[in-house]
Amino acid sequence: MKAMLIWTINDYPAHSILFGWSGQGYKACPTCNEDTPAMRVKNKIVFVSHRPNLESNHPYRESLEFNGKVDHTSKPRKFKVADIENQLTYLLPVGNPSKNHTNVGEKRKRPPNCRHNWTKISIFRKLVYWKYLPLQHNLDVMHIEKNVLEAILDGFGSNFRHKVNKENTNITNMKSHDCHIMMQRLLPVGINAFLDETISTPIMQLCAFFKQICARELMVADMLKAQKQLIKLLCILELIYPPAFFDIMIHLVMHLPEEAIYGGPVYMRWMYPIERYMKKLKNYVYRRDLIVLTDMWTGQLGHVSFVCSTRYVNLSVKVCSNLWPGMFRINFTFKAENPNMDMKTNFPSWFTNQIRKLRSVDGSKYSDELICLSEGPVGTTNHYSVCNVNGVRFVVSNRDDRCTTQNNGIETLADAGARVSKYYGRLEDIVELH
Ligand SMILES: [Zn+2]
Repeated sequence: MKAMLIWTINDYPAHSILFGWSGQGYKACPTCNEDTPAMRVKNKIVFVSHRPNLESNHPYRESLEFNGKVDHTSKPRKFKVADIENQLTYLLPVGNPSKNHTNVGEKRKRPPNCRHNWTKISIFRKLVYWKYLPLQHNLDVMHIEKNVLEAILDGFGSNFRHKVNKENTNITNMKSHDCHIMMQRLLPVGINAFLDETISTPIMQLCAFFKQICARELMVADMLKAQKQLIKLLCILELIYPPAFFDIMIHLVMHLPEEAIYGGPVYMRWMYPIERYMKKLKNYVYRRDLIVLTDMWTGQLGHVSFVCSTRYVNLSVKVCSNLWPGMFRINFTFKAENPNMDMKTNFPSWFTNQIRKLRSVDGSKYSDELICLSEGPVGTTNHYSVCNVNGVRFVVSNRDDRCTTQNNGIETLADAGARVSKYYGRLEDIVELH
């Protein structure tokens, strides 16, 4: 089998780690690279000055309303594969320079007066095709949309929050999907009634852009047009809102149309399905006050075991025809009797009932193995507080707390990307599966 990694989908901090480009500081935008438009306002770095992205003859270029100066700066450069490769050669390996010079994935030092934000050579660059991919790491629209909405609601110019009835103060602490609905459906209607047109119109246009980019179908021509409008829109926002409004999330909006051109519709490349899956895993955990990562993965393991058990029965029916002479015909019987049923989900219970019926007529004809197979995995488990494995006695932490000696410490090896790492923990439960 051959597989290819087309891109990754992460929130922005993880994006920075995987890309190997720091999301902090003056060069926080990996797309703009060295040409990221940034300045310091008190203790905050802000990303204003979007005028260089406009056409060279655009009236805003001559306007003194922005910062009292005309702006004839050329457009930010498009950094090609060779440029990036060249930048990466300037990274200095951390530790002993005499060995592992070319190891990817390791932290590197930037030389003094460095003009870029590379922190390491990403592990993905081991893939020979990776550097040629136009879109390697998706900017996640879900998180960007949430951050933009929170910035708008945070009182920058609009004071929208103060327009909300005091009895309904739950406008804050919204989840990502609440922000999605708010941004695309409610905010345009809400601000239209309360704010001055000069302020409400750009926000409504921004909402319209998010709605457009989240559509099921995207046209390249529409995205090119949207990109031009978006740059103009960001310039208008610069005239209305204070510089502190323009954090990196507002700046990243500018790159969304280009990513949509390379990657296609946004709904295929955002984190909603991943977040939903994480919620599903969390639901496996019955004690919400003790949610830890291992619990979630145990939950996933349980889910995988369940799926595998079902498949095991399916597979066994096909393979183990020596258990029962009629086995090889049973798939056809199921399909003939239930033409509209999904075999993957309904076959195991049908098979169980079928064998039970046959056994009720003459049980002696069927082997124990076949009967066990038809009954499927047992749903109950046994829990123990102590067990002996290879001569070593393990005790769960609850019970060990009452003892003077401790036998609940466990160590496990886990594949943490480039290397295998050791993880340590306490034994919380011993479960016997049947
Ligand atoms: Zn940028």
